[in-house]
Amino acid sequence: MAYLTTPKLIFPIDDYQVNGAPFGKRSVYNGVVWGLHLGEDCLAEAGTDVRAIGRGRVVYSAFHPGTGEKGNWGNIIIIRHKQAKTRRVFYSVYAHLGKCFKLIGEKVDLGEPLGFIGEGNTPENGFWPAHLHFAIYIGPWRDEVLPGYWKEGDQRTRPEWWQKPSDFIKQYLDQHAD
Ligand SMILES: [Zn+2]
Repeated sequence: MAYLTTPKLIFPIDDYQVNGAPFGKRSVYNGVVWGLHLGEDCLAEAGTDVRAIGRGRVVYSAFHPGTGEKGNWGNIIIIRHKQAKTRRVFYSVYAHLGKCFKLIGEKVDLGEPLGFIGEGNTPENGFWPAHLHFAIYIGPWRDEVLPGYWKEGDQRTRPEWWQKPSDFIKQYLDQHAD
């Protein structure tokens, strides 16, 4: 599959606000230690549109319902992008969607709808309060879903493979301005 360059980025929802768990927070829910939070959580009304932050290709689109006892991703989409100037590849992650509008392999344009914020405490949103988990990943792609947290000794990912999403988007816009 060809790599598409991504000249511009936008935020995935209107009025993007990190009013849930911030990037890098050590999170504990119901006495369970989840580890370091690898994205930003935006609490938002169910049904709110979630859009592709930039041009790219869908590399993951699936449903991980979880259970009432242990939450999961619900519907999740991951898009591969390529920086227009540095040619570096990065990925954007959108989780807890009510539905996935795009399939693996599909091309997406900047601002194209990927889904919407899922209803809270449903299989679709993975049994959490209604919110978007949004993340930026710059590590190697292994053709499998990425984790939302990292714990000491966890081999699934490394903290240095994740970027603070809101800073990444702001810096990207500066770097790619003419
Ligand atoms: Zn999260």
